[in-house]
Amino acid sequence: KKSGFCISNSTFYSKRPAIPLPPNTSLDITTFISSRPHCTTTAFIDATNERHVSYSELWSTVDSLSFSLSSTWGVRKGHVILILSPNSLSFPLVCLSVMSLGALITTTNPLNTTREISKQIADSKPFLAFTTPELAPKLAGSGIPVILLGGEKGSFGNLKILTTLEEMVKGERKEVRVKERVCQNDAAALLYSSGTTGESKGVVSSHRNMIAMVQTIIGRFRLNDEDQRNGNTFICTVPMFHIYGLVAFATGLLAAGATIVVLPKFEMNDLLLAISKYKVSYFPLVPPILVAMANHADHIKKNYDLSSLKHVLSGGAPLGKEVIEGFLEKFPNVVIMQGYGLTESTGIGATTDCLEESRRYGTAGLLSPSTEAKIVDPESGKALGVNQTGELWLRSHTVMKGYFNNHEATISTLTSDGWLKSGDVCYFDEDGFLFVVDRLKELIKYKGYQVPPAELEALLLTHPEIADAAVIPFPDKNVGQFPMAYVVRKAGSNLSENEIMDFVAKQVAPYKRIRRVAFIDSVPKNASGKILRKDLIKM
Ligand code: AMP
Repeated sequence: KKSGFCISNSTFYSKRPAIPLPPNTSLDITTFISSRPHCTTTAFIDATNERHVSYSELWSTVDSLSFSLSSTWGVRKGHVILILSPNSLSFPLVCLSVMSLGALITTTNPLNTTREISKQIADSKPFLAFTTPELAPKLAGSGIPVILLGGEKGSFGNLKILTTLEEMVKGERKEVRVKERVCQNDAAALLYSSGTTGESKGVVSSHRNMIAMVQTIIGRFRLNDEDQRNGNTFICTVPMFHIYGLVAFATGLLAAGATIVVLPKFEMNDLLLAISKYKVSYFPLVPPILVAMANHADHIKKNYDLSSLKHVLSGGAPLGKEVIEGFLEKFPNVVIMQGYGLTESTGIGATTDCLEESRRYGTAGLLSPSTEAKIVDPESGKALGVNQTGELWLRSHTVMKGYFNNHEATISTLTSDGWLKSGDVCYFDEDGFLFVVDRLKELIKYKGYQVPPAELEALLLTHPEIADAAVIPFPDKNVGQFPMAYVVRKAGSNLSENEIMDFVAKQVAPYKRIRRVAFIDSVPKNASGKILRKDLIKM
């Protein structure tokens, strides 16, 4: 045991004080958050139109929405409800209302193509969907009834538009609400992740998982009256469809009593203007934004007032020592706090929470409260000790229930005694700080977005002139990684690199595009036919 960091039976235990969890089994995440005292009055500010939403308005709207969803539109416990939307004030309202009924909220990236969204819909089978008028055409042909976020009901081709969010909130209550009993163990969210291998799978997070994550976030920020005076305003550009945005902006920070400024997407100028206008103190981001800020620091400092900005919170992808140093040289008064986690761990599993911790450049931080970890040798399966590198396994109240309708993927990722295999290659130093050094799993992360190689490989194989293909991450300073394809052409084919990139680009979201191609005679595979990606990465 060293300064509270305890290793026993090759298990690493969190140094942080354990998080209290509510004992009552019958509790949903929304009730849990709404019953907490709030030290601020403003929950959300929409940076596009300056609209402010107070905490009391937030909870009364969530109540009206959930009432309308159940009494008028027949949403029941266990139903899956899709939200296809950029960040907006409506996003958290929908998520909180859906989860309060024991229904599952499922999300998808608005950049995804109709083909990609249809695949996810075929898997999750939503009962109804919320979307914006602009994105509604992506649901045409899905057969799912739609509730519009903004705009008029009007006509949307063959889409069945039920109503608009505005109408739902305005609607009068004619009956007393009867709520189904929701237990902490019931499913709350269904976000998609490719995990350690293969294509995207639905990650089932329970109310318990979400409540534990909310408690972790509350503990991390400990916002109080003093913060209120000094400013506890967060800016939200991280997508709410991703676990990072969902647990921060639709649940955790609301429970912590923060004020959240919402931007529909990342656009540097709008973002910097909003930081100075609303005196934002916390800026959660992904590493490429930090890189962009460091690269344009002189211009930014000359044109924007960022004096309110005290913390940037980086997560979703690795943040190297050089990037941190480059950023701090330009913005010495800002503390960079790191967070490491996965969709499968309902968000964060390790963090740096203060200046002192953040000074250990390159660390992903200390284990989150009530979290256990192991470093496992991928070859021998043996648990390793301090300063030894292997696969990180995590166990905590935030580890997912499993993959949706996918027993095989679940048992290969979760052990019978509750360990989640992260697929990340890591080590702990002697003080308990986690370092993520590599990825064992196939996943590519482009600006923090997941790109599953298996999905691109399957697509490449549909090309009539491609005999075989493998996709690997290619490192890039500005975006983290981008997908590169190794392609085996069929005999006699003269298919070019550009033709291959165009073929893929037409069918996938922009962040999944293949940006580099090389030709090979055969894809290296092991005896059981698994692609030897590490060999290709070395090449
Ligand atoms: P996602 O499920 O999209 O959140 O992706 C999770 C994966 O992102 C992790 O398994 C890591 O590979 C990577 N990741 C997330 N946060 C970090 C971090 N702070 N440092 C390094 N890799 C990270």
